Amino acid sequence: MMDEQRIRPLPSLEQQSGGRSADPLVLEEGHPRQGEIPPFDGGSATPSGLVSAVPQRSGAQVGGGWKDQFADAPDVLKRAPDDKTVVWAGGVAIGGDAFVTMAGPCSVETERQLMETAERVAGAGARVLRGGAFKPRSSPYAFQGLGLEGLKLLARAREATGLAIVTEVMAAADAPMVAEYADILQIGSRSMENYALLEAAAETGRPILLKRGMVATVADLLRSAQCVVSYGNPDVILCERGIRTFETATRNTFDVAAIVVLKEISRLPVIADPSHAAGRRSLVPALARSAVAAGADGLIVEVHPDPDKAWSDGEQSLTFAEFGTMMADLAPWCELRASCKTALETVA
Ligand code: PEP
Ligand code: MN
Repeated sequence: MMDEQRIRPLPSLEQQSGGRSADPLVLEEGHPRQGEIPPFDGGSATPSGLVSAVPQRSGAQVGGGWKDQFADAPDVLKRAPDDKTVVWAGGVAIGGDAFVTMAGPCSVETERQLMETAERVAGAGARVLRGGAFKPRSSPYAFQGLGLEGLKLLARAREATGLAIVTEVMAAADAPMVAEYADILQIGSRSMENYALLEAAAETGRPILLKRGMVATVADLLRSAQCVVSYGNPDVILCERGIRTFETATRNTFDVAAIVVLKEISRLPVIADPSHAAGRRSLVPALARSAVAAGADGLIVEVHPDPDKAWSDGEQSLTFAEFGTMMADLAPWCELRASCKTALETVA
């Protein structure tokens, strides 16, 4: 037989609250009790008796405020829909009609490694050679770069191939020396908010490739770009290289939307770094394609003669063959991008 004690019904809401509703909002004076039909009040937005804690903002205020978050970077924002800055570096136009690929090893290791890479990436269509002579490494025991010797090798590779050179500067004191050898100074992700470095790099007069900090918003990136411009250097190239999120399947999360946002609001060229975003070489070509589709002006990609033996970032570096295939596969996407741009400009 069933034990009646064990199947006691749950108390009703009225019983729980001593005859009053459990919902504090329903207890407000003038509000109908449960079950009562409220009198029609003409359809007021806030029912009588309800105290709303949500700020009352009109749609126009919300929409109009979107660009306000970039207000600290006035000199890098577009003044008209077709406003754009073309940055010239070592005879290469970045942010113009042509899509520009920068490629090379993560670190300059040896003369042979660099020369071979420079020739192969130039042959596949790259216009700029990348390679770190000063390396920001997470471990103090990891290879820190060849320093001045690395810069000299980069200059030799430029002479041999005609490629422009982009390389990272990590310390303000090194900026004049790096600028002697490089066509573009790279400010790494970890340095995006090092204002003394931004100032020293800006003062060299070389174009600056400004990488987005790994926990920086688009507004933060534009603020740093504004600093460089305020220090008297208008030639800034922005770089989306992935940001830190909870995702671990990729080294960083490639923020393709940031490319779209930057192209909409800023007049500066935007390039994408699919290598540091992906962290795995198999993912790089697809991320590169998405960067082209999103409207990026170019790419910066890591390439190594023998990635498994690279002194840094081998897992994400492409072989020469992989780089060649990626460049060939990108060609129709770049053509499509060019025709879309022309169509858009005609409409504007
Ligand atoms: C690099 O380009 O090798 C590099 C260290 O990049 P990031 O600053 O984006 O990590
Ligand atoms: Mn690297």
